[in-house]
Amino acid sequence: MGATWLGVKHTHLTQLLQELELKTFEQVIGDKVIYEAISTSPPYLASLPPNPEPSLRIVGGSSTLINALAAKIDPQAILLDTCITELKLKDDSIIATSEGIVLRCNTIISTLPPNLLINKIHCSPTLPAELINLAKQTHTWMGDSIKIALRYAEPFWRAENSSGTIMSNVGPIPEMYDHSNAEDTHYALMGFLNGAFHSLTKAERLQLVTTQLKKYYGKVAEQYISYHETVWRNEAHSFYPNEDHVLPHQNNGHPLFQKSYLEGKLYLAGTETAEHYPGYMEGAIHSATTVAEKILTEA
Ligand SMILES: Cc1cc2nc3c(=O)[nH]c(=O)nc-3n(C[C@H](O)[C@H](O)[C@H](O)COP(=O)(O)OP(=O)(O)OC[C@H]3O[C@@H](n4cnc5c(N)ncnc54)[C@H](O)[C@@H]3O)c2cc1C
Repeated sequence: MGATWLGVKHTHLTQLLQELELKTFEQVIGDKVIYEAISTSPPYLASLPPNPEPSLRIVGGSSTLINALAAKIDPQAILLDTCITELKLKDDSIIATSEGIVLRCNTIISTLPPNLLINKIHCSPTLPAELINLAKQTHTWMGDSIKIALRYAEPFWRAENSSGTIMSNVGPIPEMYDHSNAEDTHYALMGFLNGAFHSLTKAERLQLVTTQLKKYYGKVAEQYISYHETVWRNEAHSFYPNEDHVLPHQNNGHPLFQKSYLEGKLYLAGTETAEHYPGYMEGAIHSATTVAEKILTEA
């Protein structure tokens, strides 16, 4: 049921989805939002203006895109569960090392968020100090967010005088949306929790979530089929805490990420390095295309 939004201007992604014959559908926002401005006033139903640029979702969720791309590659060429811990120049090659695995390569493209790369992978010779400092101050988009979803038997939020779109300044869920599947046979609400709640237990977060939803929908909010959450800062292969506070998208697409390193054998890609739409899937595809063109031109 999971799905990632893409904007209508995300042309690289739209084109890729078309080439892979994957379908999209419009994210339901509706014409009303449950709005909670301050804790001392009750939430109310506000009108939403028409959205000229609706967001789209991938039918079947974003894993459909990953599976479709993987199907184009020789399965033996894909190593899953292989965490690279070291990159080293040796003779005319660059050597990538994981537990018990040594890969001798001509070129390596890292798609790790830059702050993860410089903190988790030991490079020899060391990467330039200016790149290390920049990577430490580069934001991993949504890296510290908490994504939540609740499945329900019925989409009760679609009743008159209700909505599945929630905007709350009170929280802990600041925003939430109807996340039912494309066929409209499974019903869910999906939203985000303030990242500060990462230190609570899952049960404590769920309690906060249902308490907030009960304010809008009553007791039916407690009758969920299942609750799902991902605390992204606990995802060791996606997130590494920044040493200092960084702003959203800070240093994304910086010119230093466009250069090659380790004698031209290491390229940086991944969405945070993208010059266009960094942080989003569109940026990831944009950076992949740019780096592939660079390598093919220089070969
Ligand atoms: C909660 C959340 C919601 C989001 N919502 C949206 C949205 O609605 N729309 C949108 O466009 N984007 C959204 N994004 C952003 C989108 O997910 C990213 O832009 C996209 O996944 C980035 O792709 P990538 O290939 O650059 O990096 P990643 O997807 O992070 O890929 C990097 C890969 O490197 C692997 N890796 C890490 N360390 C190592 C290692 N040492 N050795 C080997 N492999 C390693 C990881 O396992 C991972 O598979 C969201 C992100 C989050 C967290």
